[in-house]
Amino acid sequence: MQHTDVVVIGSGASGLTAALIAAAEGLKVTVVEKTGVIGGTSVVSGGSIWAPGNRYMAELGRGDSRDEVIEYLRALTLDRVDEELYTTFVDTVNPMLDEVVALTGIKFEANPHHPDYQPELPGAKAEGGRTLQGDLFDSTLLGDFQTKLRTSHSGVPITRLEVDAWGQDTMDRWDWALVADRVSQGIVGMGAALCGALLKGCLDRGVTVLVDSPAFSLIRGDDGVVAGVVIEHNGLEEEIRAERGVVLASGGFEWNKNLVDQFLGKPLNSPASPPANTGDGLIMAMEAGAALGNMSEAWWTPTLYAEGDTYDDEPLYRPTSSLRTLPGGIIVNQAGHRFVNEAMNYNDMGKALGNFDPQNYAYANQPCWLIFDQRFRDSYSVGMVTPDAFTPAWITVADSLDELAEKVGIDKAGFNDQITRYNEYAATGKDPEFHRGESAYDTYRGDARVTPHRNLRPLEGGPYYAVQIRLGALGTKGGPLTDATGNVLRADRSGPIPGLYAAGNVAASWFGAGYPGAGATLGAGMVSGYLSAKALASSQG
Ligand SMILES: Cc1cc2nc3c(=O)[nH]c(=O)nc-3n(C[C@H](O)[C@H](O)[C@H](O)COP(=O)(O)OP(=O)(O)OC[C@H]3O[C@@H](n4cnc5c(N)ncnc54)[C@H](O)[C@@H]3O)c2cc1C
Repeated sequence: MQHTDVVVIGSGASGLTAALIAAAEGLKVTVVEKTGVIGGTSVVSGGSIWAPGNRYMAELGRGDSRDEVIEYLRALTLDRVDEELYTTFVDTVNPMLDEVVALTGIKFEANPHHPDYQPELPGAKAEGGRTLQGDLFDSTLLGDFQTKLRTSHSGVPITRLEVDAWGQDTMDRWDWALVADRVSQGIVGMGAALCGALLKGCLDRGVTVLVDSPAFSLIRGDDGVVAGVVIEHNGLEEEIRAERGVVLASGGFEWNKNLVDQFLGKPLNSPASPPANTGDGLIMAMEAGAALGNMSEAWWTPTLYAEGDTYDDEPLYRPTSSLRTLPGGIIVNQAGHRFVNEAMNYNDMGKALGNFDPQNYAYANQPCWLIFDQRFRDSYSVGMVTPDAFTPAWITVADSLDELAEKVGIDKAGFNDQITRYNEYAATGKDPEFHRGESAYDTYRGDARVTPHRNLRPLEGGPYYAVQIRLGALGTKGGPLTDATGNVLRADRSGPIPGLYAAGNVAASWFGAGYPGAGATLGAGMVSGYLSAKALASSQG
């Protein structure tokens, strides 16, 4: 049996932030990680952090205020979240980042262009500044832990701001010589850089980090106090006693089909996170008698699957954030109909992908396809397939739109009608049906070189192409309900469960069904990790 002050279950950004802060507060901390590598979904992420009112934004001369942010979050959460929770986020995110910067040396910059995800809601920012992007990180600084840092999906060490500058639409224009140089030096970017820096901060402060050590149950006293965890390590069960308590930070349940089927209410079929996120923390919280919340929600995202593309021996589903917004492509369902603004933010678009049609007793928009023309194919990367690359079999090609519809199983009459209508609209640069291209979010992406509109142009000559778009998620965001310190609440809401905290996607999100802006999931997870650590540090040992 081991003894420590705090056990953190899971080594994503939420767990590492909790561990870093608890250690900086002078506590003895052990992080247990289920897989052989550290960082979870947080490593494969863009590493963006949503921090309204941040100091970097002020340096750009952009204004922001607490009232505006709270007004925005009130609108976004549809009255389904306790205002104290998102207000606490607003008041904590910047002090949290200042402390993380001081402890790790991470450098952040405000993205000057990235709008909030519903930029036309009251209190939102259309002109950017609330989303922060991190710098690169030299993974050799991790010493023996260098090889234990999870690798990102692409393995390309690049910052999010470079992606913006080099081109989101195709990787052809990227500086591949510079990328190769960075790879040879062990430099990592985006989510890997964030986790690398957090991990270094933890190791520097003596945090014990155990990989290949899944936690599977909580140790609870007769009084219900959570006093440690049982893990599996080297094939053996081992108890780790935690004097102060346990932070659940084990990510979502998106890879657990049973939990997905029971809770989500939408046919999530392509999670974009690493497959170890199977809801273990959720199950432990349920066993401890936790109240649950936001269980039907996820950070939704439309994805595509390139046949044979795998990660950790499971299919790798890639988000389609930029691709969908580009001119010369539309998304249609089996009836051949468009059903949403294709350039919509991925979380809210995901909700449309999961719509149920009561008449036909089926999910109306699954399956659906991104349809595009030859000019689109010649101009943009589709997943990792660049314009000059051979067209793989998972991209369906046909000489005519009729043939394409037949090949993938789309109703021809509905499809032809839709294309005619869409092309007429697109030629004028307007989309009266779904308002594509009207939001500041839509125009942040798109292709500025194209007329009549960066998000809209008619489909021109063939051949034509179809790629299936799936209902995916960056992670689920339902789980144990917490108070504003991250302390998990009892099922009857009579108070908190002593010693049990939850941070990140394992917990009920403080943003409900909404996704305020790029970086809101990491931002919220790091805030709840930070608050949990502070609460544990001030609790009685
Ligand atoms: C492609 C992609 C890009 C994204 N970009 C962004 C972005 O730029 N900004 C943003 O805010 N969000 C982004 N997201 C979402 C974001 O990455 C996640 O919401 C966030 O990383 C969740 O963090 P977490 O700490 O809660 O969980 P995770 O990072 O998933 O970490 C959970 C960890 O717990 C471990 N674990 C699971 N079960 C156990 C167990 N029983 N015992 C021990 N360990 C366990 C897992 O192996 C994992 O390492 C992106 C997601 C994807 C897929």
